[in-house]
Amino acid sequence: MPSYKVAIVGAGPAGYFAAQALQNLQTEELQFSIDMIERLPTPWGLVRSGVAPDHPKIKTVSKVFEKVANAGNFRLFGDVELGTDISIEQLKEMYDAVVIATGSAIGKKLGIPGEDLPGSISCAEFVPWYNAHPDFHETDVLLDCQTALVIGAGNVAMDVARMLALEPSELDATDTADHAIAALKASAIREVVLSARRGPEHAAFTSPELRELPKLEHTNVFMAKSDIEAAVVRAGSEIEKDTRSNLDAMLLISEKEATNHDRTMKFQFLATPVEIKGNNRVEEVVFQRTGSDERFSIKCGLVITAIGYEAASIPGIPYERGKVVNNEGRVDENLYVVGWAKRGPSGVIGTNKSDSTEVMKLLVEGLKTAKSNGDITDLLTDKSHVSQEKWEAINASEIAAGEPLGKPRKKAVTREELLSLGGI
Ligand SMILES: Cc1cc2nc3c(=O)[nH]c(=O)nc-3n(C[C@H](O)[C@H](O)[C@H](O)COP(=O)(O)OP(=O)(O)OC[C@H]3O[C@@H](n4cnc5c(N)ncnc54)[C@H](O)[C@@H]3O)c2cc1C
Repeated sequence: MPSYKVAIVGAGPAGYFAAQALQNLQTEELQFSIDMIERLPTPWGLVRSGVAPDHPKIKTVSKVFEKVANAGNFRLFGDVELGTDISIEQLKEMYDAVVIATGSAIGKKLGIPGEDLPGSISCAEFVPWYNAHPDFHETDVLLDCQTALVIGAGNVAMDVARMLALEPSELDATDTADHAIAALKASAIREVVLSARRGPEHAAFTSPELRELPKLEHTNVFMAKSDIEAAVVRAGSEIEKDTRSNLDAMLLISEKEATNHDRTMKFQFLATPVEIKGNNRVEEVVFQRTGSDERFSIKCGLVITAIGYEAASIPGIPYERGKVVNNEGRVDENLYVVGWAKRGPSGVIGTNKSDSTEVMKLLVEGLKTAKSNGDITDLLTDKSHVSQEKWEAINASEIAAGEPLGKPRKKAVTREELLSLGGI
């Protein structure tokens, strides 16, 4: 009975759904042993370090990932990075197939003057900062100003704006990093402006997230009714279902009775940022009204861009426009790609399931005679790694530490702290 060895690089949703698809494709004649390689000491990708901490239900998908990990023929190699600890050539040599599931973690830039001033950061730095990603706990988030600007028109921009605008004690019962809760409690920010280049009809928010906003207990949420009504007219009658649902949700926000809380989250549409100005730090952002020459500016001390992500290049893998070059998921003979590394940053967690399933069918079609040239353990003789068992120890410690505080978990922040919880 042939048993094929598959290496999946990246322990995010796309990686786990690829492993699950392979497990589901197994028959008596076709067996897989799966090694999942992850650069962090913790798995789950953006489910741990991206999804907003005030959305704990979304994170319950991690139960599916743990079931996949415990279904047999699965090994986790955490704290092992492709491109530094091991190379793609080595993996391709040792495994029958290699699946790249490394996501896309670099924030896209606006490309405007002033973008590098202190106080201007990307969601790709801010989100992992509040989510206790070990590489980002030292991100300098300047919260000593009254107004913050978030640039973007998708759910990530909305998460970022909400995290800045909500009453921070609402985060006490979440798994937000302790350093972020402390900083947000000390924050001077009282107004958060979320600014989109195009109109509401083009925004990439999803309606459940929009519908949640009016429920914020300590934050005024403001959208101008005239903006939404004009968007409804522009969108016309042959409007897509999702757009209609979004515009309905936005109308509800715009019609909501005004509240008078200390904190405000405000939406601005049809404004293109053209320059960030300031003396040694961000002081204002200059906008051009989209489609006209009119310019105006907003004074603020913090700008966070959330305009998309691209993949970091790993040596030996071909990239184009921030994604791995592929043909429906196949890169070359025994190399495949899934998830955000394949498609770019689009879709919800579930999108990765159908995507990974399709690519794994292609992988199975491409299998040749099973190899027997060793595996990753031969390459890691000098380096310890986080096995599934050690990860479960880390996980259990974090959950236990959170319990008396009423949190789902208290996240360890540094690599050293995480590894020591795993007994490494
Ligand atoms: C801020 C934010 C909030 C989101 N909120 C939601 C939400 O509420 N609901 C929803 O449905 N979707 C949400 N999403 C989308 C969802 O997180 C993605 O669809 C999903 O995580 C993509 O999965 P992935 O496996 O391709 O990438 P990732 O989740 O990024 O996983 C990639 C993994 O690969 C690892 N890796 C990277 N490079 C290497 C390397 N060289 N060697 C080894 N390992 C490596 C990374 O550490 C990471 O663990 C959100 C995304 C973001 C950014």
